[in-house]
Amino acid sequence: MPRRQFVADLQKAQQDTLPLGIFELQQGEDDGQFEFEFFGTPTSGLIEPVKITAIIPDVSEYPKSHEYMVFCGDNAPHVIGAALQDVRGTNRKTVFELLDIVSATLARLAPDRDGDTQMPDSQLESEDEESDRDVYDDDPEAFEISANQPTLYAAATSRTPKMSGRAFRSRVRADLLAAKTAGFKVGYLGHLMDAFNAFVTVSIRVSKLGISEEAMQAWHVDPKEYLILIVQYPNGYKTNEELQACDSMRLTPNLAMRLCAGKKYKPTLQEAIKAFTAVKQTFNDDSTASDLPAAEDGGADENALRETFISKPLNGFLQERLVPILRYRSAGMDWHGAEALYSEITSKGAGGADEIPDRFYRPEAKNDTLPDIVTADHYLSESAAPYSFPLLAMQFALRHFVRCTEFCLVCHRKLDTELEAIKPYVCDQSLCLYQYMTLGFGPSIEHEVLTQPKVVDLLVSFCYSSASATRLRDFPDGLALMVPAVDLVQYRAPDPYAVYRSYYRTQQNQPAEVKREPQELPAYDVGFDRDRLEMIFFNKPDQRPVRRGSWIVLTTRDLGNSELHCRVSDVTYYPTISIDDPIVLSSAGVPNTANVSVGSADVRPRTITPATTPRWIPASFTVYDQDFEQLDRAGKCISICKLLDTLPSVKTIQDYLAKKRPADLKYWVERISPAALSLLRWIIASNRACIMQVDGDSSGDVQGQERLYGMKDFVQFRFAMGAPDKEQRFITEVRNTTQRLSLMYPTIFAWHGSPLYNWHMIIREGLHFKNADHGRAYGDGVYHAKEAATSGGYSAMAMPGAYGGQSTAKIAWSNSQLRIFSAIALNEIVNAPGEFQSQNPHYVVQHLDWIQTRYLFVQCQPADGTVRTIEEKKPANAYPQDPSRTPRGSSDTIVLPASAITSRRAASDGRTPTSRSPAKRLKGLGGFDDPIAIDDGDDSASDATDAEDLDILFEEDEVEPEPDKIDPPPQTLIKRPDGAATDFVPGTLKFNTLPIMPEPAYANSAATRRLMKELHSLQKVQDASALSDLGWYIDAEKIDNAYQWIVELHSFHVIDPHLPLVADMKKQDIHSIVLEIRFNKDFPFTPPYVRVIRPRCLSLAQGGGGHIVLGGAMCMELLTNTGWSSVSSMESVLMQIRLAIASDPPARLDIPARGDYGTGEAADGYVRACRTHGWAVPPGFQEMAFGMPAPSSGQGGQ
Ligand SMILES: [Zn+2]
Repeated sequence: MPRRQFVADLQKAQQDTLPLGIFELQQGEDDGQFEFEFFGTPTSGLIEPVKITAIIPDVSEYPKSHEYMVFCGDNAPHVIGAALQDVRGTNRKTVFELLDIVSATLARLAPDRDGDTQMPDSQLESEDEESDRDVYDDDPEAFEISANQPTLYAAATSRTPKMSGRAFRSRVRADLLAAKTAGFKVGYLGHLMDAFNAFVTVSIRVSKLGISEEAMQAWHVDPKEYLILIVQYPNGYKTNEELQACDSMRLTPNLAMRLCAGKKYKPTLQEAIKAFTAVKQTFNDDSTASDLPAAEDGGADENALRETFISKPLNGFLQERLVPILRYRSAGMDWHGAEALYSEITSKGAGGADEIPDRFYRPEAKNDTLPDIVTADHYLSESAAPYSFPLLAMQFALRHFVRCTEFCLVCHRKLDTELEAIKPYVCDQSLCLYQYMTLGFGPSIEHEVLTQPKVVDLLVSFCYSSASATRLRDFPDGLALMVPAVDLVQYRAPDPYAVYRSYYRTQQNQPAEVKREPQELPAYDVGFDRDRLEMIFFNKPDQRPVRRGSWIVLTTRDLGNSELHCRVSDVTYYPTISIDDPIVLSSAGVPNTANVSVGSADVRPRTITPATTPRWIPASFTVYDQDFEQLDRAGKCISICKLLDTLPSVKTIQDYLAKKRPADLKYWVERISPAALSLLRWIIASNRACIMQVDGDSSGDVQGQERLYGMKDFVQFRFAMGAPDKEQRFITEVRNTTQRLSLMYPTIFAWHGSPLYNWHMIIREGLHFKNADHGRAYGDGVYHAKEAATSGGYSAMAMPGAYGGQSTAKIAWSNSQLRIFSAIALNEIVNAPGEFQSQNPHYVVQHLDWIQTRYLFVQCQPADGTVRTIEEKKPANAYPQDPSRTPRGSSDTIVLPASAITSRRAASDGRTPTSRSPAKRLKGLGGFDDPIAIDDGDDSASDATDAEDLDILFEEDEVEPEPDKIDPPPQTLIKRPDGAATDFVPGTLKFNTLPIMPEPAYANSAATRRLMKELHSLQKVQDASALSDLGWYIDAEKIDNAYQWIVELHSFHVIDPHLPLVADMKKQDIHSIVLEIRFNKDFPFTPPYVRVIRPRCLSLAQGGGGHIVLGGAMCMELLTNTGWSSVSSMESVLMQIRLAIASDPPARLDIPARGDYGTGEAADGYVRACRTHGWAVPPGFQEMAFGMPAPSSGQGGQ
C-alpha cells in the first residue's frame, strides 16, 4: 500500500530530528501533501519562518516512481521561491530525504550575518558535493543553483564596512545637525550613540507649516502642537546609504517610522515604544497601526502623543516607499519624478527597460504659497552628500502631510484634478475607495455623529436631495453594495428634471446616458406573522434564498404601500424564518412627510403577547440582492434614496452610540443594513469641505463661536472649502487689491445660493462656475447676491415644483431632523466690484481666488422639538464692514462677529485682535500684510530643547581628542529621574528564594551575546528613567545566566490607579509581580517564555485575567510563534507584558493562595492556552521551559 507507506514515512520523519532549519512538519490537507517551515539557523536573517508545501501528485506511485512539487507562499522571500523551483533530483526520494535536500539547498542561500558562509552544521559545507550526491541522488543537478542566484544577503555583502565608533558618532551627529540646521527640532531616545535600539525624532510646530486655520480645524491639528516624525532603528542607527543598500527584507528589521502629533517636540520613551506597538485589530492586521490615541480623541490627555488624522495611511506609505523613492532620488529625480517612477514600476513591473524615461526627470513646479520649510529639499542643497536620512524622511513626510489633499490617500499618486479640497481623499479608482473605507483611513462616522450631529444630518440631506433629483455624479462604487431591488414604477416614471438635465448636458458637452433597466429580483411568497416576527414558506424553494444576516424587503397587503426592510435573524427552522424588527418605509410615490418618525417605528405594539398559534398573513419579499454597480445613474440615485430612508435619524444613532460599548455602528446589525452603513460612511468620508455647526445646542459646536446676526431662523455653519493654501492665495489677492485701490475695507461679503440638490457636489468640488444652473445672463463667474432673499430665491425656487410645500416628499430625507429646504453660503470677496465680471444686480466674480466661503446657512422645517429656536442677538464685537456694501440677511442687515473673521489672521501666534480699525489692522503683524502668520520664531522659550538633545549634537567630539580607538563603555553615573511616587524598592527581592537555573545546555555564543546586549540595553534605559515611568525592574547584577531573567513589574497605579490589582497588592503589602523570562537558543527568532513566579494570581475562570493563565504563564499572542517578531526589543516586550497584566479583564491576586508557581504547571498552562487560541508553540519550548532537552515524545514540534 503505497499511501500507507507515505503516511508511515511522514510520521517517522515527524518523530525524528528534522534536518537543519526545518520545523513544524505536518500532514497537508490533501493526500500526498505535507507542509513544513523553514527558518534557517538563528543567524539566517529570516524574519519569519517560510512555509513550504510539498505535494506528491500521485501518491500511489510512492515510494517507487513518484515525483514532488515543492513551493512556498507568495509572500516568502523571492530567493527562496526561486531556489525551490530549482530543487532537482527529488524523484523517488523518501519524505525525509526530500526534507534533507530542501534544507541543504536553502541553507546554501543563507550565509550568516558576518557575511561568511560558515554554517553551524559544518558538515554540509565541508563535505564535498559529491558525497551529498552519493547519499541522495545520482542526478548531477541535485544541488545546482545557478551562480548568479541572488543570495539572501545581497545587501549584507555590499554593506559599507562598519564605521569605527568615532566615525559612526560623528556621522550621526552630522545627520542630526543637518535636520536641526534645516529648521527642525531634533531629539533622540534610547542608545543612539551605542548603536543599540534607538529613536530619532524630528519635529516642527504646526504653526510653521503655513496651514490655514480652516485646514487645521478640518485636520484636527492645533497650531501649537508639534508634528513629529519618529524614526526607529531597532538594530542601531543606519545612515541613508546603508538604508538604501538594504533590500526590503533587510529594511524591515532596521527601520520603522511613525508620524505623530504632540504638545512636546519629543515624545517620552514609553510613548515612542507605544507608537510602534501594533494593536491587533479584529478586522484587519494592519502593521502600521499604533497604540496611540487617534486624531479625533486627542482630548483625553492633553500632553500625550497621538496619531494625526492622516497617520495611518502615511505610516504605511513611509515604511514601504520612502527608501525605494530615495534610491530614485539619488539617481537625480526630484520627489515628484521618483514617486511617479515608483508607482509605475510597482504597478507595471520594471518592464525590462534599462533607461528611465526623461519625463521622470522633469522638475516639479514649486508651490510658492507654501513656506520654505515645507518645500525645502535636502537632496538639492549645496552641502551635498552624505545626506541625512532623518532630514530627508521629515521633508518627505511634510510634503505628504501639508499637501495631503493633492495625493490619493491610498495609492498616494498625485491627483490629476483641478478640484481643490480642504480634506484629503482618494483618487477615482474604485479599489482606492474600497481600501480607504475598509482600512478605516477616513473620518470615523461615530465621531462625527457624536460631535457634529447637525453636520451629519446636513450631509445626508444634501446627498438625498441630489440623488432624488438624479443629480449625483460620483457614486459609492467599488464597495460591493448589495441593495434592495429598484422600484421599476419609480424608475420608469417620467423624469421631472429632464429639461434641466438636457440643458445641463449641453453646457457640459456630456453624452446622454443610456438608460438600463435594473434587474428584477425574484419575489418569494410567504406567510408573515407580525407579532412573532416570523415568516413561513408555503412552497419551500429548492434553495434557501436567505441566510442569517440577509436583508430583505417585505410587503403585505395589510400594510398597503409600505415596505418592511428587515434583517433575517434566524434560519434554523427553515422553512420558518425569523426576522428582526422591521423598518417601515412608505413606498415610492407616497409622501411620508406626515410621519417623520415612521422610519424607526415599530410595526407591532410591544404590549401584545404573540398568539399561541401563528397567524400567517400573505406577504412577499425580495432580498437585497441588487448589485449597486450594475445600476445606471438613475437606478443608483433611486437606490441611494431608498437606503437613506432606511437609516435612523441622527439623534437615534447618537443615542445608540451613547449607550453602547463599543460605540461602533457596525454592531447595530439589526437596525442598519451593511449597504446603508457603507453609504453613510461614504457620504461622511467623501465630504471634502470643512463644515462646523455654530449653534449652541450641542457639545460639538465650534468653540466660542458667536452667531452671525441677521439670519433669523437659519441654522448656521462655519464653512471652508478649497485647498489648504486657498486662504493664503485669497489673502494675497486681498492684499494686492487693497494696495492697488487704497481700500479702507479690504473685503465685502455677499450671498451665494444654489439649488439644494447642488450642494452635495459643491461641498465636494468647491465653487466653480462651469456648472451654471441659473444661466449666465451676466457673464461667467460665481454669482453673488447682495440680499439673502435673492440668493434664497435661487436656492429654493430655481426649479418650479421642486421646493415649497407641494412636493417636499421626494426631496427631503425622511428621517432628517433639520429637514432642510434651502441652503445659502456667505462668502468673503475682494472689495473690488469695479473689476468683477458684473456688479449689478449681482456680483459676478470671475477669479476664484477672490472668493472665500465663510458661512453656510440652511433653512429648515424642523420636526417639532428637534431643533431649538435660537434667539437673535447682535455679536458683542462686530467685524467692521464696508457700510455701502453690507449685505442683507433674511431678517436684517448682517453683523459678523469679529472673532469669526479676524481670529484667523492673528490667532496663529496667540495674539488677540485688539484693533477695530481695518486700516490699522493692515499694518499689524496679523493683518493682511502677513497672511497666515507663519511662526518663524525660536521655540526655545516655550519648549526648551532637552539638554541631552543638545549635548548629542555638540559636546562629545570636543572633549574627545583621541582618534579611532575603541571607546571605553561610558560610565553610567546618571541620576535616575524621579517620576511618579512608587512603593517599589529596587534590590529588595531575595534571589535565593527563587528557582534559579544554571545556564542551559543549549547555550551558544551567538544567542548569549545577543541576550547580554539586550540586558545591557535595558540596564541603560533603567538607569536613565524614573522607576515608576518604566514600571519594570531588572537587577542585572544578580543575573548570571543570560537565558533566565528575573524581572519585577511594579507601579501599576501609574497605568490606572483604580485597577483592582493595585488594591490587591496594597492589601497584601506586595510591591511587585516577579516574572521569570526564559530564552531559547534561537532567540530572537523565537519568543521568550514568560511566567509569573509570585504572587499567585486568579485565572480567567476564577475571575482574574491580565493574560495570566492557570499555572502562572503569560499567554499573549506576542509571546507565541504566531505573534512574535524578531524585531521586538525586550524593552517593548516588558512594557507590553505590563500593559497586558493591566488590560481588561485585569489580573487579580489569589489572596488566600500560598507559595510560588511551579515550573511544570506553568508550562502545561502555556501549551494548553496556545492550543486553545490556535497559536504555535515555539520550537524547543519544552527545552526552554524546563531548561533541559525535550523528552523523546516530540513535544513542541522539534
Ligand atoms: Zn488612489
